[in-house]
Amino acid sequence: MTKIELIGLSFEELLGELEKFGEKKFRAKQLWQWLYFHGVTDFSKMTSFSKDLREKLEQNYSITRPKIVTEQISSDGTRKWLLEFADGQRIETVYIPEEDRGAICVSTQVGCGVGCKFCHTGSQRITRNLTAGEIVSQFMVARDVYGEWPSPSNGTPRKLSNVVVMGMGEPLHNTENTIKALNILTDGEGIALSKRRITLSTSGIAPKMLQIAQETGVKLAVSLHAPNNEKRTSIMPINKQYPLEEVLKACQEYQKIVTSRYITFEYLMLKDINDSLDDARELVALMKKYKLGAKFNLIAFNPWPGCGFEPSSNNRIRAFSQELERGGFVAPVRVARGQDILAACGQLKSKKEQN
Ligand code: SF4
Repeated sequence: MTKIELIGLSFEELLGELEKFGEKKFRAKQLWQWLYFHGVTDFSKMTSFSKDLREKLEQNYSITRPKIVTEQISSDGTRKWLLEFADGQRIETVYIPEEDRGAICVSTQVGCGVGCKFCHTGSQRITRNLTAGEIVSQFMVARDVYGEWPSPSNGTPRKLSNVVVMGMGEPLHNTENTIKALNILTDGEGIALSKRRITLSTSGIAPKMLQIAQETGVKLAVSLHAPNNEKRTSIMPINKQYPLEEVLKACQEYQKIVTSRYITFEYLMLKDINDSLDDARELVALMKKYKLGAKFNLIAFNPWPGCGFEPSSNNRIRAFSQELERGGFVAPVRVARGQDILAACGQLKSKKEQN
């Protein structure tokens, strides 16, 4: 008999499973806490349950973590795992340390169907969506590694304070599972991450953005990468389907519901493609037209073999950033993290597959 996987079930689903054994809501709450507050993966450690219940759970259910295939640690502390699920499919999860906190970058799909021209993951096509459990369990693996269940044993603050949904895949091509996973991550009885500490990044799947605002309340980042439709379509073909006007209108609606100061616009600096001062001025005008509370993240491009793009020079990036700031927008240059372990999107998996 195939066992039912518990990680990724909503609380109501978990309750439904326990009711099959005549158990009540408070038992489901306890089980939820064992899974998501204590991070227990072994039924025999669930000491608040009778031996009989523990055995029933053991016979019918599983608590699975993806297998860590490889782990790489960069000189700057960035840590990247290649994770494998039960069916052999692999994705990558990255830990990005900051001074006083750290973010886990999770994937939502194996591969990606959006096909951004500059992205290595995009060149791998889509294999399948991840389940809610597979999305949540990437964060749980990281907590296992850092010993942060239920909190660090030496009493220091947690390293894993934030989640960015920015790994492989377009989360809004896997919206239901992503929403379910985010609601598990923010549930107060379990992992209890604040919504303000989670950022979902999308290539701009406009019709789904509102649903994320309504059903999760997490912060939003949009991969913009160009100031007008012509340029954006040339590097992000998805722009034909959801042009800038639609994406930015969806951002306006998002900000009405999730009232954070900024939506972050990711902007990859590609030499002679989108990095001129005119491009920066056009961006400023665009943000003002839509009256968006916006912050830019300027990202230095990390070229990969055969990509056909070159990174902008540091001077160019600095001038671009200053122009955006003159226009009234915060535009830090994001330091590329983990360059020595190829922590940019999709690179680890691609390398393994070439072997
Ligand atoms: S940048 Fe993101 S959305 Fe675009 S192809 Fe890569 S993974 Fe997909």
